[in-house]
Amino acid sequence: MMRTSDSTAQEVIVIGGGSGGAAVAGRLVEAGVAVTLLEAGPDYGHRASGRWPNEILDATMLATTHDWDYSSGPVSGRAPWRFERARIMGGCSSHNGAIAAVGHRSDYDGWGLSGWTTDELRPIFARVLDRMRVRTYAPSEAGPFHARCLDAAVGSGWPVDTETFASDLCDLDAGENFGLEPVNVFEGIRWNAAFAYLDPVRASPLLTVFDHTLVDRVEHHAGHVVVHVVRDGRREALVAETVVLAGGVYGTLLILQRSGFGSTNQLRAVGIEPTHHLPQVGRNLHDHPMINASRALGPELRRWLAEASAKGFVSEEQTLGKACSSLATDGVYDLHLFPVCASTQTQLTDGRALVEVACVAPESRGLVMASGPGPDVHPVIDHRYLSDPEGHDLAALRDGLVMAEALLDHPSLASVLVDAPHRDLSDETIRRDVQHYYHPVGTAAMGSDPGSSVCDVTGRVHGLDRLVVPDASLMPRIPRANINIPAIVVGERIAELLLSRR
Ligand SMILES: Cc1cc2nc3c(=O)[nH]c(=O)nc-3n(C[C@H](O)[C@H](O)[C@H](O)COP(=O)(O)OP(=O)(O)OC[C@H]3O[C@@H](n4cnc5c(N)ncnc54)[C@H](O)[C@@H]3O)c2cc1C
Repeated sequence: MMRTSDSTAQEVIVIGGGSGGAAVAGRLVEAGVAVTLLEAGPDYGHRASGRWPNEILDATMLATTHDWDYSSGPVSGRAPWRFERARIMGGCSSHNGAIAAVGHRSDYDGWGLSGWTTDELRPIFARVLDRMRVRTYAPSEAGPFHARCLDAAVGSGWPVDTETFASDLCDLDAGENFGLEPVNVFEGIRWNAAFAYLDPVRASPLLTVFDHTLVDRVEHHAGHVVVHVVRDGRREALVAETVVLAGGVYGTLLILQRSGFGSTNQLRAVGIEPTHHLPQVGRNLHDHPMINASRALGPELRRWLAEASAKGFVSEEQTLGKACSSLATDGVYDLHLFPVCASTQTQLTDGRALVEVACVAPESRGLVMASGPGPDVHPVIDHRYLSDPEGHDLAALRDGLVMAEALLDHPSLASVLVDAPHRDLSDETIRRDVQHYYHPVGTAAMGSDPGSSVCDVTGRVHGLDRLVVPDASLMPRIPRANINIPAIVVGERIAELLLSRR
């Protein structure tokens, strides 16, 4: 590993090989830039190496290994939240649901940022969908539960394309709809960002990868950046002209804060010496809050699921609906409803049939804060779900739950599920049971004003010109989408911007 005393600075160090980081690293190397990629978790090499664990490749359900084990800590009146984040090359794209979505044009136009309008991003979305091998399930691939969900949606009056049964989740101009999901699943394998962006350049002498390398903090100097890491239990330092901070919505933030970049008072309060006052670092944390309605499986459905799984690939998630709650503005959908069903215990279900409801235009905001110096100190992650003063997020979830119960009550589904009383829709119950859609964003948001944002529209941290953020933390407001494809688009856009300045 290159150390401060050894030789000249490397061109670019990318910290974190996740969705955004892999995209930046791959694109920079393809353009002739020397990149050193640092990842805290393992790198299993090229997809063809045979070393990737089956659990990570298997796209039929969420993978649960290789996690950072973040949680909320004790919460009064309910179980703590787990905040799953992958610690592996490919980041969360290596263990996620592989559902591909882009959100709505109003999401990106709503950011109001030069270079990030929907029309400017459209070609990048097209490239990313292609790289990630996104395709939509065919009706013949629908498992026994999801085939019935399609029937139930048609019968309940959802807008459904009854020729293809395909969802239009990857259309930036589309509205309400129910259909089969687009997925980045290739030959049954979860096609992660490392396969898409790093494999094509793995043989290049311009790419150096250090895995099992935990970044503690960075020092920003006039002509270079020093990156302090822990590797094999030893502390080392590397130097680069530019550092791309792609640690994800919690990781990027924690590196910034451990480096002394953040709110001066808050950093001092946890024993970190401030070096650059940026009050918004770690604020604006938000995700899609989520809750579900559920039923037990009837014996016939249980048998069909077992038979279908024995024959081949049947994912627990295959269909999704976009809908407007009574709070939706301008007729743009603000809910995702997605049925989930597995005959076994998985991260999402305990062997029941669920319809998950997510509020995809949330108003509540929380924060992430390092609770002390050092990379092993567990941070404070306080999402403040359903905390918006107008009660918008809670009301949207309540509307969605009514729709979810109606879908489960449709005879196509009710006839193979065990009848159950509808869920209590009181505020208390929704607050007690609210979960999240695994889509945190926003903690290093872009904007023009250092008082209300962390990075400028080129992803550079305000006042720290050599530090660039290319991941989900850069999004000022969450798109109405599962966030993997948008995070990769952010990575691709930042790569373009870096290359345009060379
Ligand atoms: C369980 C789960 C299911 C999901 N399902 C879907 C889905 O179906 N569809 C979808 O679109 N989205 C889904 N998502 C969300 C999506 O995968 C993420 O939003 C997206 O991958 C985030 O990309 P990122 O680049 O911001 O961060 P990440 O992909 O998390 O990358 C961050 C990387 O940085 C590394 N890192 C962090 N800190 C350090 C450090 N100090 N030193 C070195 N390395 C570090 C991490 O190990 C990681 O590899 C899901 C997420 C989860 C957790």
